[in-house]
Amino acid sequence: MAKRKRDTSWIQNYFFLIVPQPFEDELLSSWLTRVAIEHKRKLSIFLSLYVKKEGSSISRTDIDFLYDENLFEALVTKSNLTKKDILKMSLRSEEGYLYSCKENNLYPPNQIRKLVDKRNHYGLMYCPKCLAEDKIPYFRKKWRYQFYNVCTKHELFLTDRCWVCYERVNFSKIVHNKNLAICSKCEKDLRTSVCKNIEDYHRYGLEAIKWFEEGLDNGYFTINNKKVHSILIFDSFKRFVYLLDRKEGLILNEFPLLNEYKNLCKKLETYNSKKVCKIYKDFFLTAMVYFLFQNFPNNLQIFAKENHITYRDFLHGFQDVSFWYKNFIYNLIPIENKKGREIVSSEVVGAIKYLKNINEQVNIISVAEIVGCHPSIHKGFKRIYFQLKSKS
Ligand SMILES: [Zn+2]
Ligand SMILES: [Zn+2]
Repeated sequence: MAKRKRDTSWIQNYFFLIVPQPFEDELLSSWLTRVAIEHKRKLSIFLSLYVKKEGSSISRTDIDFLYDENLFEALVTKSNLTKKDILKMSLRSEEGYLYSCKENNLYPPNQIRKLVDKRNHYGLMYCPKCLAEDKIPYFRKKWRYQFYNVCTKHELFLTDRCWVCYERVNFSKIVHNKNLAICSKCEKDLRTSVCKNIEDYHRYGLEAIKWFEEGLDNGYFTINNKKVHSILIFDSFKRFVYLLDRKEGLILNEFPLLNEYKNLCKKLETYNSKKVCKIYKDFFLTAMVYFLFQNFPNNLQIFAKENHITYRDFLHGFQDVSFWYKNFIYNLIPIENKKGREIVSSEVVGAIKYLKNINEQVNIISVAEIVGCHPSIHKGFKRIYFQLKSKS
């Protein structure tokens, strides 16, 4: 016998009763939750009743990153906003500027702060003073950008929780019908949270955030008097962080926050304060990436030289390196080991495979470039390359 289902199809024909106007830089989940509150419903119930039957599962996913044409269409129809208005609130509208997207990508890329990973649940980040200044409190899109750790207007670190009960901000838990600045658990006001102010010695990090913010707004950065598409800079961010985050071992004497960064790393080893300190660590790393792009190309070259980071290190282990990045590094970092290091055949096989994967030409020069040796001087490399070639 078929299971009886309650018929809810009728109710979904309802248009939203009240449609609060989205703010210029508002995050989709922020606006949706404001609509739900206007309807005196919890987000999941509101979505089920007014938007889509599977509303409860939508509210459990990352709505801001979700790409669901049907959901967008439904929101357009029910709210009378344009599709452009809706998409503008979604983090998907930053695709091509802040991050590049692979097909079927359900989880946000590194440039966007995750809400959930294997071990942790994070709350949505916010600046209490921004919320306090709002007539109607709302959450900004940029609070979810990985580089945006400090509010550049109020100059304080963002936070992701209520500082009365330590509950993390999660819109799907709101049942109070008040507003977004009220904690979902204890109903205390998030606007009164005391966040850490940035200190004078933090200025450099603030400058960094402003630089990234402006580059994203413009869609390009200016490096060495040339305009560089913003996505290329944001895509190399992760690679630079990986190379920079060497804790005590990092040599970067000109970097103004070096000691603060090292002290924090020490603290992270001793105390179990990983979650709380994460924002500070991200702040220092963001400032460091900025540093590498300044005083171009000196900072980057000195960093590579003093930390013995080779051309190969800059490229190693990354599957989707942009051509710009490769060229950029190629022009800055000399290819070392022209004849010295021993090269094994698996390295050459790997390089060929890699080039094929990214649809680039496979020849002795391109393969040598990936392996990190000179194509004609390195005898071992040449021998392996031609052996492999004769086999194929
Ligand atoms: Zn603020
Ligand atoms: Zn609370």
